[in-house]
Amino acid sequence: MLSKSDFVFSTSELKTYLGQKGINMNKAGMDVKHPFFMMVPKYYLDLIDWNDNNDPLRKMVITSSLENDIKKYELTDPIGDRPHTPVPGIVHRYQDRCLLMLSNVCAVHCRFCFRKNLLNSNTYDFKKSIEYIKKHKEIWEVILSGGDPFMMEDIFLQKIITALKQIKHIKMIRFHTRTPAVYPKRITDDFVKIISQAKPSIIVFHINHPREITPEFIQSVAKLKKTSSILLSQTVLLKGVNDNTQTLTRLFKSLVEIGIKPYYLHHLDYTVGTDYFRISVEEGKKIYRELSSISGHCIPEYVIDIPGGLGKIPVFWFNHVGKNKYQATDFAGKKVVYSDPS
Ligand code: SF4
Repeated sequence: MLSKSDFVFSTSELKTYLGQKGINMNKAGMDVKHPFFMMVPKYYLDLIDWNDNNDPLRKMVITSSLENDIKKYELTDPIGDRPHTPVPGIVHRYQDRCLLMLSNVCAVHCRFCFRKNLLNSNTYDFKKSIEYIKKHKEIWEVILSGGDPFMMEDIFLQKIITALKQIKHIKMIRFHTRTPAVYPKRITDDFVKIISQAKPSIIVFHINHPREITPEFIQSVAKLKKTSSILLSQTVLLKGVNDNTQTLTRLFKSLVEIGIKPYYLHHLDYTVGTDYFRISVEEGKKIYRELSSISGHCIPEYVIDIPGGLGKIPVFWFNHVGKNKYQATDFAGKKVVYSDPS
C-alpha cells in the first residue's frame, strides 16, 4: 500500500507533477542548504491552492529559502531529547511514560519540524529499547513517535505492539501521527486491525489547519474509531498558517464534530531554520484568549516545550519578568525561565 510514487521528494519532481496538471511552478525561493529534503504526498499537494503563494498548506510543506536564515537562538535538539535518551530509540523525560522512536520515516516533511535533525539519522535500537522499558517498571505508558509510527511497515508495527503487550506494567500505548491528515490512504483495514491490538490506546492526530479535514481524513478517523482508541489532537501555532482565531476555531470545532478532542496547542520550538513560522508569546496569548468564547471542550491546552528538556508548561503559567523574559514554576516546583526570541 505504501508506494514511493505517491510522494514527491524534490523541487524538480514537484515541478513535473504540477506541470502534468497544467500548473506552472516557479522554483525561485525554494532552495534550502540543510539536508532536510522535501517530501510531500501527492494527495496533500492536491489540497494546496497553487494560485496563492501564501497558501497556508503550501507554507507547511514546501521548502523555502527562508529556512536558510538560521538564528542564534535556534537549536538542533530544541526540546532537549538527547539528555533524556538512555538508549537509542527511547526518550524518558517524565517518570510514568516514555517515547519510543523506532522510525525516522514520516508521511511528510513539515518545514517547521522540531525533530528534523533526528529524521536525518537512523540510530534507534529495537532490542535495547524494549529491554529498557521492561526494566523500568515505573513506565505506565509508551508513546510511539518518531518519525511517524503510522508510516512503519505493518509487520514492524505488529512486532512492536506485540512486544509492548507482553510487558505487564505497560497499561497504555499512545500513537502520535500526522499520517491521517496528509496521507489518509495509509489507514487500511489491515492496519486498523494491528492498531486495535494495542488497546487500551490513544491516538494523537497532528493537524494544523481546517483544510486538512477532508472527506478522506474523516474516513480514516472513522476507521480508526474501530480501534476503540481515545482520539486527541495536537496543533502547532504557526505564523501565516493558523495564527488567527477564526482558523483555529474552525479547526478545533471541526475536530470535535468528528470525535477528536483538541489536546495541545504548541508554541513553536527553537527549531533550526523556522523563524519565519514564529509568532511571539504575547501574540499567541492574545489569539488563545479570543478562543475563550467557544465551548471549553473545543479548546486545547496552549503549551511551550521548554528548551533543554524541561518539558511542557502551559503558557499561562508564565509571568512576564522582563523584556521577552518569562518565568514559571514547573510541575516539580522548579523555577523555569523562557526567552521569547520574537
Ligand atoms: S510529521 Fe511530525 S515528526 Fe514528521 S516531519 Fe512532520 S512534525 Fe516532524
